Amino acid sequence: MARYRDSLCKVCRREGAKLFLKGERCYTEKCAFERRAYGPGQHGQNRRKPTPYCTQLREKQKVRSIYGMLEKQFRLFFGRAERERGITGDNLLRKLETRLDSVVARAGFAVNRNDARQLVRHGHVLINGRRVSIPSYSVKAGDVVEVASGSRQIKRVVDAMAVAERRPACRWLEVDRGNFKARVASMPDPADFRSIVPGSEDLDGKAIREELIVELYSK
Ligand code: SF4
Repeated sequence: MARYRDSLCKVCRREGAKLFLKGERCYTEKCAFERRAYGPGQHGQNRRKPTPYCTQLREKQKVRSIYGMLEKQFRLFFGRAERERGITGDNLLRKLETRLDSVVARAGFAVNRNDARQLVRHGHVLINGRRVSIPSYSVKAGDVVEVASGSRQIKRVVDAMAVAERRPACRWLEVDRGNFKARVASMPDPADFRSIVPGSEDLDGKAIREELIVELYSK
């Protein structure tokens, strides 16, 4: 499966925001964005006023990077969100948040979404007792996501769980860390989208401006 393989920190620096793509390192002073909060490369420090198109494009790229998706799949998700009832931007974020790899990372079974995707791909994750190895699988309210019993001793799962204990819990997931289980209590609503980028709950502005993505794809 194709995926982005270059430096993740470069993505944060290009988008001008901490996107927490790596896990524990993102919360330390080793974070590349903390040390060099400007774009990567030779022209990274050049300042230019962004055009409206550029602003929309960057917002879309930012969200795409947060969920580790390539353009084709992201566009597909947008198409599905557009066909659903309700506000397209909210539908899109809900669809992204309820991807299985995203839920595994949110539950704290993996340090980041890339790691979560690998856990799912390698068959370490069950939904309602059945093995599911599709990272883009959409979970539903009431589903129980768990780490397979034979995989609970994997070092990166144990390490991720230890890190997750120090992070605020996700409102729409009921996590039972002792049993490596997470129940989807409800579907995420727009209030939950503020926490897509950790720390943004306290910001006045929204961390993600999904309306810009809708504008971009509606041209
Ligand atoms: Fe790298 Fe994480 Fe910092 Fe982003 S937030 S620059 S991924 S360490």
